[in-house]
Amino acid sequence: MTTIPMQTTADGRQIFTIEVEVFPRFNANVYVINNFGKWFIVDTGSGRDACNQQIEQGLAQIGRQIGRSLSTADLDLILLTHGHIDHFGGLPYLRQQTEAPLAIHALDYRVISYFEERRMLDMRRTLDFATESGMTEAQREQLYQMRQLFRSSYRSMPVQHVLEDGQTFHDLIVHHTPGHSAGQVCYQVDDVLLTADHILHSTTPHQAPERIHNNSGLSHYLESLDKIGRLSPFKIGLGGHEAPIPDVHQRIADIKAFHAKRLDKVRVSCQERPKTISEISLDIFGPREGFHIWLAIEETGAHVEYLFLRGELSAANPEAFEQEGIPVIQYVKN
Ligand SMILES: [Zn+2]
Ligand SMILES: [Zn+2]
Repeated sequence: MTTIPMQTTADGRQIFTIEVEVFPRFNANVYVINNFGKWFIVDTGSGRDACNQQIEQGLAQIGRQIGRSLSTADLDLILLTHGHIDHFGGLPYLRQQTEAPLAIHALDYRVISYFEERRMLDMRRTLDFATESGMTEAQREQLYQMRQLFRSSYRSMPVQHVLEDGQTFHDLIVHHTPGHSAGQVCYQVDDVLLTADHILHSTTPHQAPERIHNNSGLSHYLESLDKIGRLSPFKIGLGGHEAPIPDVHQRIADIKAFHAKRLDKVRVSCQERPKTISEISLDIFGPREGFHIWLAIEETGAHVEYLFLRGELSAANPEAFEQEGIPVIQYVKN
């Protein structure tokens, strides 16, 4: 097996990066921290068999690199960055191997411990938003089928530590950065920041409207970027996906500029004539297929919501709010 990359922090803690394939052709990073002999794992992959095996092989390889044996049974703490399945899906497997306590931020705790309820609520709000955004009945049906198809076999499990912003937990500082997910956190290990899915090397992390998940959405996300931007510079950022981020503060500036441009595109789109979110997403992303239609609608919806909340957009058909059922809203630039 190839060497596992390692960073050493200013105070001498070691952070190893195990890259795993969470879904076909989609990789994520699982981090293993050596906190002076205590072993922490940050995120758990998706739970697919191959992914679980990659974590085991990665730990064994770290063991070889430092001259001891290391496996999931040696873990002292399981830390989650947020409640997305590509990060917590490996929990049931890990639970069979270790009794190490599990920690996640308060606002994503429900995803882990009340998963079935949360999934039903998620589906309900997703379909309501799909209707409101002007997706056709056929598109909504396809969305429903795809969501059912990708249903995870994950089952709720207890969380031992519920984290809050600013606390120091086993020598790591917890920075709550809601946006991409309500309970998204970045763990600071001395002068290294585990940026999770809040800040990625190349991709701008996916956004969905707060209308679907409370405490997510673009307003929270941009505030959370500024929050990390106010911290002292880091030696390096290590994301939930992709390569290390050499300059976290520069990357924040780039991501903010990207969203500013995308907000402008929404303004221009809504200036032409009143449009549904579905129509605006076509202007921004062009025609898409399958699940990518939904991803484009969520991303567009987050930007429309941001402008609507600030009074830059209005509903061109406010009477729709008074009708029975879920209104299909058309937005216009004020
Ligand atoms: Zn995520
Ligand atoms: Zn992710």
